[in-house]
Amino acid sequence: MAIDPKSFTQVVHAGAEPDQATGAIMPPIYMTSTFVQSEPGVHQGYDYSRADNPTRELYEKALASIESANHALSFASGLAAEQAIIQLLDPGARILVSDDVYGGTGRLFRRLFARYNLDFQFIDLSDDSVVKAAATAPTKLIWLETPSNPTMKVIDIAKLAKVAKAQGALLVVDNTFASPIFQSPLALGADIVVHSTTKYIGGHSDMIGGALMVNDAKLFEQLKFIQFAAGAVPAPLECFLLHRSIKTLAVRMQQHEKNALAVANFLQTHKQVKKVYYPGLSSHPGYDIACRQMRGFSGMVSFDHRGSYADVVAFLQKLRVFTLAESLGGVESLVNHPEKMTHASVPEELRRKLGIGPQMIRLSVGIEAADDLLTDLAQAL
Ligand SMILES: *Cc1c(COP(=O)(O)O)cnc(C)c1O
Repeated sequence: MAIDPKSFTQVVHAGAEPDQATGAIMPPIYMTSTFVQSEPGVHQGYDYSRADNPTRELYEKALASIESANHALSFASGLAAEQAIIQLLDPGARILVSDDVYGGTGRLFRRLFARYNLDFQFIDLSDDSVVKAAATAPTKLIWLETPSNPTMKVIDIAKLAKVAKAQGALLVVDNTFASPIFQSPLALGADIVVHSTTKYIGGHSDMIGGALMVNDAKLFEQLKFIQFAAGAVPAPLECFLLHRSIKTLAVRMQQHEKNALAVANFLQTHKQVKKVYYPGLSSHPGYDIACRQMRGFSGMVSFDHRGSYADVVAFLQKLRVFTLAESLGGVESLVNHPEKMTHASVPEELRRKLGIGPQMIRLSVGIEAADDLLTDLAQAL
């Protein structure tokens, strides 16, 4: 498992072109809503920033480049990007969704879009027999997230791409956890890749954003129209900052993964730890598929504490380097209690089925020195 060395060059140069007017190496931030027209309908390619903005255009070029996609679109949040995908559908459409998608994705589907006569079926997409049974009725979309959150379930993308194709359905892969550095769903047969750029792509816990990447030109045109017509676009400043973050994505991911592997190995041998969830451990049920479809295991590690909920709270409060907060993918290490925090909106019954209980703790391992992270976990445990 290794990052493609080309990635380190690609991220630095993605969408980077010296400014034609001034030669500035970094792109100007075009803070403008509108653009001058010499006569009605005659302009230099831009008329209104919801439709197109030069800063956003370069950032979207960079997004396409890092995911090796023909096209990319940016949105105001990961969920806004997801919403654009659902807006491709007509009422009555049936959608197969991985049962342990990000909590906010489940909430968007169950509580908002289910009201528009869309039929979301939440199933275990890592179980062949379940997929086989579900793939008998006409389906428009198959939606998966791998590795998943917080149990790090790994789903075989190439296999689901075949199921989707046979159904005439589009395959959507949420690639937020792996990042474009460690996983390329489009190359494995996915039709649409979605990212919460709030996480690894942004990488500094200072912005909310989302992105879609596709190869198909017609699909791109449809999504581009939705982006323009529905208007959930990011502002030029966000585009500039996210574009800037992309330049360090490969080096950050390298360090995230190195630290996560050290943390997972440490936890696996600790007597206060009952179970570790990390796709890079050979004991993980998705390890073989992860080795096949990923170039690295990324920086997210979950584990079950052996003690009571009170012991878990004491552990969380003793941590000094890891900070208790929602979200993930930033340079700083964060710790989260899925049951009470990120996954509180998941129905309790489903939470129990997925194994998200009071003892589960999720770590977003940052890019600090590994020794400092292990020392912190050891003293708190
Ligand atoms: C955070 C997250 C989202 C939602 O993105 P926002 O930027 O918070 O809207 C979607 N999928 C995954 C896997 C996430 O972690």
